[in-house]
Amino acid sequence: MSGTAPIKPLRLVAVAGGTHGNEMSGVTLVKHWLRDSTELLRDTFTAVPLLANPKATEKCVRYNEMDLNRCFTRDILFSSGSQDEPYEVKRAREINRVFGPRGSMNAYDMILDLHNTTSNMGICLIISEAHKPLEMHVCHYIQTHLPNFNPRIYVYMEHGSELYDLASVGKAGIGFELGPQPQGVVRGDLLQSMKTLVKVTLDFINQFNQGMEFPAFEADVYQRVGHVEFPLSSDGEVSAVVHPSLQDQDFSLLRPGDPMFLSLDDKIIPYAGDKPIYPVFINEAAYYEKNIAFIVVEKIQLSVPALSSTSQKVAS
Ligand SMILES: [Zn+2]
Repeated sequence: MSGTAPIKPLRLVAVAGGTHGNEMSGVTLVKHWLRDSTELLRDTFTAVPLLANPKATEKCVRYNEMDLNRCFTRDILFSSGSQDEPYEVKRAREINRVFGPRGSMNAYDMILDLHNTTSNMGICLIISEAHKPLEMHVCHYIQTHLPNFNPRIYVYMEHGSELYDLASVGKAGIGFELGPQPQGVVRGDLLQSMKTLVKVTLDFINQFNQGMEFPAFEADVYQRVGHVEFPLSSDGEVSAVVHPSLQDQDFSLLRPGDPMFLSLDDKIIPYAGDKPIYPVFINEAAYYEKNIAFIVVEKIQLSVPALSSTSQKVAS
């Protein structure tokens, strides 16, 4: 049987919420688990809840001074720091100290990070790179066990870019991105879906730790390749909005000539590229400050090798 070399059971597992303080599924669940972590208990490990950005959560804003989920870069994590740094820079180093350090033997085995989006992303599983067998097996397990969720796998690192997210502190990490949900709002349906995703992931880890083998499979992933910005007028103001026919169409093909924006004087601005693209994070509220209208992904098919843990050798 071809597969990756067996890896050790995963004992250190964390579930982070409130990395963005106004994404309320994760904030609400992690606060609940900090009071009562029974749902995070398994035979072979107990996951640790982490309220990642308490200051932003308190104010119910995405961040206090800087986006925490962009602070886990080499430069920030491995520099000495100074007193007058932004809160989130200090917090990123602190999280790296406790749950990492990234790339070290002491780092947590798996970090789950819970997010919401205002876009119609449904149930989206975010990993940093496609060639990560453990993360891909978790995603595949979720897809197999929760087909009604229609979970999609999104790979955030573009060619040549570097790690920057909280989950990258662990040896393995996955983000759950659920939407649409307005900022500062808890939708019961998405909260339940988020809870189910965490439950199924912890079940996977428990079975993996107990020596279960997971066969090879093929999967589609959506690889980030770029983004499209809002058109601006000469005074720097946004001059068009996402076209109504593109709104909520995340993961659907946008073809050359399809309406993309609607200008404020009611003109259709079509997509002018020469090949179809998949837009995602369409009209995400948090991206307005960066003038991003949507992210562009490419659909890629991957072969993922079988996975097993070292514990199978001792299991009878
Ligand atoms: Zn987020």
